[in-house]
Amino acid sequence: MAKELAGKVAIITGGASGIGKATVELFVAEGAKVVIADVQDEPGEALAAKLGDVAVFKHTDVSSETDMQAVVDLAVERFGGLDVMFNNAGISCGAYPSFLDDKLDDFDRVMRVNVLGPMLGTRNAARVMAKSGKGGVILNTSSIAGTLAGMAMMTYRASKAALIQFSKSSAIDLAQHGIRVNCIVPGHVRTELSSFGEKGADSDLAARIEEGVNAVYLSNQLIKRRGEPEDVAHVALFMASDKSRHMTGAVLPVEGGVTVGDPVNH
Ligand code: NAD
Repeated sequence: MAKELAGKVAIITGGASGIGKATVELFVAEGAKVVIADVQDEPGEALAAKLGDVAVFKHTDVSSETDMQAVVDLAVERFGGLDVMFNNAGISCGAYPSFLDDKLDDFDRVMRVNVLGPMLGTRNAARVMAKSGKGGVILNTSSIAGTLAGMAMMTYRASKAALIQFSKSSAIDLAQHGIRVNCIVPGHVRTELSSFGEKGADSDLAARIEEGVNAVYLSNQLIKRRGEPEDVAHVALFMASDKSRHMTGAVLPVEGGVTVGDPVNH
C-alpha cells in the first residue's frame, strides 16, 4: 500500500518531545522527510540520528523570526521543498490559585511561543508554498484550554484561543494559494507539558490540577483514559495527507469526548 506522505517534506516544531516526537516518527514511517525543529538539542539530535537521512534536527526557537526563516530554508535546501508545516511547539504557564496572583512575566513568554511562533511558522512556510505553486498544509496545535474556560492558567488559555482564531483567519487568507490551514485541539495528553504534578509556581495547586485531570477521565470524558501522543499524531497524519484535501479552517478536537457534554447534566 502507498505510504500516506510519500514524497512530502514536513517541518514539525516541538518535534523533540511528546506529541511532536510521536508525529515525527509517524510521518517518517509514512514516507515523509522531516525537519525536527526544537529548542531541546539533545533529544532532537538523537531522534534525527535514529531516523536516518530522512530526518534532520535544527535548533529552532519558534518565537524567533530568524530561526523560523532558517528552518524553512533548511527544509528547502535539504529536501527540495516544503509541503507540511506543523506548528506544534507550545509551553504552559505556572499554575496559580487565581488570575489575581498570576505572574505577568509569564505572559510574554507564553504568547511569544504559543501565538507568535505559529504566526512566524505560517508566514515563512506559506511564502515558500505559495511560490512553489503546489500549495501546502499548515497545521497548528491548540488545546481544549483554548475552548473551555477555567480558573487556572489563564495566559495559556488565552494563547490557545488566539491560535484558533489565527488558524481560521489564515485559512481564509491562504486559500488563494492552495494552502490548507487546520487546527488540532488536544485534550489531556500524557506528555512532559501536562505533568502538572512536577511543576508550577504552587506545587499544591499543581498536584490538585493533576488530581482533577485524572478525575475527569472517570467522569465527563467519554473515552476513559488519558490521551497518548500517538492519538494526536494519527490525526495530524490525516490532516497532513491528501485524504483531508477538502478540509481547511477546521478546528478538530482530539480529546476523548471531554468537551461534548454538559458536565452537570449529561
Ligand atoms: P512537550 O513538552 O512534550 O513538547 C513540547 C515541545 O516543544 C518540547 O520538545 C519543547 O522543547 C518544545 N518547545 C518549547 N518551546 C519551544 C520554542 N520556543 N521553540 C521550539 N520548540 C519549543 O508537550 P506536548 O504536550 O507534546 O505539547 C505539544 C503541543 O500540544 C503544545 O502546543 C501544547 O500546548 C499542546 N497541548 C498539549 C496537551 C497535553 O495535555 N499534553 C493538551 C493540549 C494541547
